[in-house]
Amino acid sequence: MIVTDYQLQKISLGFRRPWRTAAAEFRVREGWLLTLRAGDCVGVGECTPLVEFGGPEDVASAQQALKAACAWLMEQSVPEPVAALERWLDECEALHERPASRHAVECALLDLIAQAEGVPLRRILGEQPRTTVPVNALLTAQSAAELATEGRAALAAGFTTVKVKVGVGPLELDVERLGALRAAVGPDLRIRVDANGAWSANEAMMHLRALAPVGLELCEQPVPAADLDALEAVRRAGICPIAADEALVTGGLMLPTTKADVLVLRPMVLGGLLRTVRLGWEAQRSGLRVFVASSLEGPVGRAAAAHAAAALPDCGLAHGLATGALFLDEPPSWLTPVRGEIRFDDGGGLGSEEGRAA
Ligand SMILES: [Mg+2]
Repeated sequence: MIVTDYQLQKISLGFRRPWRTAAAEFRVREGWLLTLRAGDCVGVGECTPLVEFGGPEDVASAQQALKAACAWLMEQSVPEPVAALERWLDECEALHERPASRHAVECALLDLIAQAEGVPLRRILGEQPRTTVPVNALLTAQSAAELATEGRAALAAGFTTVKVKVGVGPLELDVERLGALRAAVGPDLRIRVDANGAWSANEAMMHLRALAPVGLELCEQPVPAADLDALEAVRRAGICPIAADEALVTGGLMLPTTKADVLVLRPMVLGGLLRTVRLGWEAQRSGLRVFVASSLEGPVGRAAAAHAAAALPDCGLAHGLATGALFLDEPPSWLTPVRGEIRFDDGGGLGSEEGRAA
């Protein structure tokens, strides 16, 4: 396969309302939509760097990297089989230390390859991909009463897992918010919290003990990303399962299994779908559980992450892919969760509207 042309289109995703986490307040997300053409087919990939995660890439440097990478790949033919693609992309210097750019290039190539083979993208990531993946609802309200209302709505919509950001305000507020949520949704809905590195190890243990009566499924990134000893200390306290998220960027892609119970795999942050699926299998073989999450990106990036999630074995955790509701102008599509699941259609490639329209 030879790529003959490419296009870069700026993406700007506005949030419905400013969204606060312990690490940042989000109002808009910016990035690039990459379109690659080979013969009659077009493949798409999204590059939306998550600067707030401490990655090495911003929107301007990503544009330079994508242009250089596209010039590089138009000089040669894309290798087959897909298993060779990861190593081939390692040779592209423009994509070194540019995980979101690499993700876009790889995704557009995988989209082209899957279309050429007439199969959905997830079929070239895994032999027996799932046809549905469970996803968690993301609850964003700050006040206890509004959070309870949001939780009831998620339960009524069929979600079995919800996620709440914590550590933004004082401990008492989180205890009140999470208590009101649990009282509103009953005992069965799984409640996941994410502190985005807000706490020291001691603070994390204090907060998680205070929240323990709520019954937490897990806590993402209780302590700063770079402090793997603190992560391990919180995990050893055994209050609830601990998930490493930002720590995967700063602590190396494969953490020692003593550091966390769960890994959050973000293809945009890790640098591609092939790497995400490979890491997911490795982690599960070593006894860790994993789930795939989007990185607050648009429908193309989220579709890609959903295909990666479908290629991994089910380990009982909902994936973080129901983030479309955060954004203005999100069109309904197969990515819109139904009864707490994303249900794939059988279309070839990525199955994104952007790709079909290009
Ligand atoms: Mg997180």
